[in-house]
Amino acid sequence: MIRIPILLLALASVGAAQSGPCLADAFLDVSEAAGAGPAYPRPRVEATCEGDELVVRSNGIPHYEFVQVTPNPLLERNNEYRLPAKPTLLDTAVPIPLLGGLGVAVNGIVIFGPNEGPVPAEEQFGDPVFNAIMDACMGHTALEYHYHAMVQRCLSVGAKDGDPSPILGFGYDGVPIRGPWGCADADCSKVLRYRSSWEEVREPHQDAWDAYEYVEKDGPEYLDACNGHTGPEGDYHYHITETWPYILGCFSGAPTGGPVRGRRRPEISQARPGQGGGRPGPGPAGNRPPRAGQRGGPPRDERPGPEEVQAVAAALSKDASEVAKALRVEPGGIKPINLAASARTLEVDTAKLIESLGRTQPPRRQRQNQAPPGEPECFFRCGQSEENAVGCTLTPDHKVLCFRPCDDNKCG
Ligand SMILES: [Zn+2]
Ligand SMILES: [Zn+2]
Repeated sequence: MIRIPILLLALASVGAAQSGPCLADAFLDVSEAAGAGPAYPRPRVEATCEGDELVVRSNGIPHYEFVQVTPNPLLERNNEYRLPAKPTLLDTAVPIPLLGGLGVAVNGIVIFGPNEGPVPAEEQFGDPVFNAIMDACMGHTALEYHYHAMVQRCLSVGAKDGDPSPILGFGYDGVPIRGPWGCADADCSKVLRYRSSWEEVREPHQDAWDAYEYVEKDGPEYLDACNGHTGPEGDYHYHITETWPYILGCFSGAPTGGPVRGRRRPEISQARPGQGGGRPGPGPAGNRPPRAGQRGGPPRDERPGPEEVQAVAAALSKDASEVAKALRVEPGGIKPINLAASARTLEVDTAKLIESLGRTQPPRRQRQNQAPPGEPECFFRCGQSEENAVGCTLTPDHKVLCFRPCDDNKCG
């Protein structure tokens, strides 16, 4: 039982009067759900409103049958997410992280961005939906079970295709994520299936963010670059889409929420809901993601500034606008940076690019999700042996490749 101070309750009720009720009710009751299967713990998810936060506690176990599509085991977690109950919309959207969580679904499962990680080598980062490494609910396991896309039927009870969609999750900015359908007008005289405005410009086997471009489109069914819009009720929300970016393309709100498990909680950010009926508040300067959004973790997306772009352009004898685009920091750019992908676009070595940026190359960590270059023997075709495998990915020729943790350049 969580005891909430009376003062916080009073504040919560004031907040509710401004922007509607806390949306904890959107979360599923999974107590009667089938669960992942007899070999796994029961799913657990609990959502509450605490002050100005929507707090979600879950064990990361899906409420439906777990079908393994990667060699990674499904493990129980002890997750806690704290999201702003009232999103602060920004004037300028901010990028989602290249890797890791950006939201939480109504069954307590973490939501990732639309690209896979840097495996089996730096040149991956493909689109895992295109590369067919997701289960039927668009989830799979790495270190934990996560979504790269979402399926309404997996996450709602009783919602019908073609009817206005329920909320299926929330971004770390607190903005609701709805299923694909929504009312076209306040009377709901017509229901639209919302569509992404991103276009595929090449096959996204690798460096998926370079394989898609946002192109603004006319038509009420098209969403903005973040995959959101302001609906007929006047509230801003995201919709899941059939095509890239599937869930979120960027954050339209200040991403001040996130997981708190095992981390010291930072000071609550200075960002507060804007005055005047949910109108966007001031955006962060220079299109940089707010650090407060990282919830005490290290900054994950150090975006190069204009001086660094100039320095790279000079060092590589290239045009500054070409460099800015390759670094994904061109005016209006909202793609998460990935220096390995940028180096390939600029046809230089990643180390050379990092040096041109005036940065020091981070020490090569033996990350569990990344085998060291030149160690292909750490990888094996799935099905040969799944013991100790920690992940899998797609090769450029569409073969599923699994890998084990590597230690001192020796296979684990
Ligand atoms: Zn994944
Ligand atoms: Zn909508």
